[in-house]
Amino acid sequence: MGVAHPVIELTGVSKSYGDVTALASADLVVHRGEMLAVVGPSGSGKSTMLNIMGTLDRPSSGTVRIDGHAVAELNDRELSALRAGTIGFVFQQFHLAAGVPALDSVADGLLYSGRPRRERRQVAERALRRVGLGHRLFHEPQQLSGGEKQRVAIARAVVGDPPLLLADEPTGALDSRSGTVVMELLHELHGAGTTVVVITHDRDIAASLPREVRVRDGRIEHDSTTGSALAELTAEGVAR
Ligand code: ADP
Ligand code: MG
Repeated sequence: MGVAHPVIELTGVSKSYGDVTALASADLVVHRGEMLAVVGPSGSGKSTMLNIMGTLDRPSSGTVRIDGHAVAELNDRELSALRAGTIGFVFQQFHLAAGVPALDSVADGLLYSGRPRRERRQVAERALRRVGLGHRLFHEPQQLSGGEKQRVAIARAVVGDPPLLLADEPTGALDSRSGTVVMELLHELHGAGTTVVVITHDRDIAASLPREVRVRDGRIEHDSTTGSALAELTAEGVAR
């Protein structure tokens, strides 16, 4: 743990499923405190890349470093610990268990922490207040709107204060107003220091983020950060 190394470092990462190449030789470095969009057509490899960054899946080749740890060198227990302490996940379909009150869903995000149940619930309540759901603590998913469900899922993702938040189409199942609220929340978390990666189909959302990485056919075809860095170098070269 430290600040010198990138939060995410993918080097030559490829992933194949049988004869399908979902991701081909991806290189990506994300530094602490960044917020970026990953965009691209359906089937281009975005979720594959996010799952590999999140250590939910292993690459077929290449190396993945998360918060300085070479993922391939970790055993299952170390990997679970890294994931639990470092990464929060948000998915398009919320993934909240039916019949479970918001407070318990969020408190479950701390199961790995070893903290007692009472304390987990106190911290969970704070996280729900942080996302504006202090009045919905005991609501179950079927009693919540889509936007509220996604806010519960975000509270669960950040309840342990992970430095990295990975969101796969977090507004994909929401109406535009709820989507806006969810994006505001992600911006707020970013403002508070969390590194945030957002997969999105929404051009406006992508354009509103500080960095945009475009994926097509399993390849990173454009990265606004390295792209502009290259452009500056070229401009400098021309100026000389
Ligand atoms: P995206 O998130 O950009 O829509 P994905 O990363 O989900 O794309 O998928 C990239 C490609 O890999 C697609 O062609 C998809 O069909 C394939 N793929 C993804 N996951 C699997 C899997 N578990 N088994 C087989 N093929 C997969
Ligand atoms: Mg996807």
